[in-house]
Amino acid sequence: MSKETVIQVEELAKTYQLGKVSIPALHGVSFTVAKGEFLVVIGPSGSGKTTLLNLLGAIDKPTSGRVLIDGRDITTLDEGELTKLRRHKIGFIFQFYNLLPSLTAVENVELPMLTAGVSRKEAAERALQLLSAVGLAERVGHLPDELSGGEQQRVAIARALVNKPSVILADEPTGDLDTKTGMEVVQILYDTAKKEKATAIVVTHDAMITEKADRILNMRDGNIIGAEAGS
Ligand code: ADP
Ligand code: MG
Repeated sequence: MSKETVIQVEELAKTYQLGKVSIPALHGVSFTVAKGEFLVVIGPSGSGKTTLLNLLGAIDKPTSGRVLIDGRDITTLDEGELTKLRRHKIGFIFQFYNLLPSLTAVENVELPMLTAGVSRKEAAERALQLLSAVGLAERVGHLPDELSGGEQQRVAIARALVNKPSVILADEPTGDLDTKTGMEVVQILYDTAKKEKATAIVVTHDAMITEKADRILNMRDGNIIGAEAGS
């Protein structure tokens, strides 16, 4: 694996403000992620995993600290730059898939390309190619509610990768799946991320996922309390 750094997190902190109540969720965490790495961040519920991921994906702004992606601080970008970043650099995968219910599998995967200005023909080709890669070539015309949870998450993986992002961020991607299906989905996420040369950060409370990790960061109470190499 190349040692080139894709993501650099520097003293990243987040305190939520609910009226007069301050809720510290992240206490100044620092780490780097290498290009092509499959990083798993594990911690119990409430440890700050979603907060961290939302900051890495520029969905939320930190209270202090920085996130550099390809050397560029994403915490200070304006709306136009953020839209570009989310469209081209980052692919998101969520626990509950977040597919559009009225669109078929292939249409869900095409959509981020069409909004990015890719031609219909090219979008259709790439969507079919990715849906095949996640094992859904026979299901491309199905609506989300005609698919199982595992299949819906595979569509979401294809959608996350479609604009060739350098970074994939996954928040509890197996949280709504049974153990066997969850492991299959993680394997597919791992294989497609590696094939597409994307760097992946997966946050989870599910220790099974760490089996696939190149490296594991342990989170507790808004801190990273340890790192270990994966198997
Ligand atoms: P995890 O994803 O590991 O379960 P979160 O990042 O969701 O943890 O939450 C970390 C802490 O921040 C928790 O104490 C949670 O209650 C709090 N928190 C998360 N989101 C918000 C929010 N939007 N407003 C206030 N507090 C929040
Ligand atoms: Mg969470």
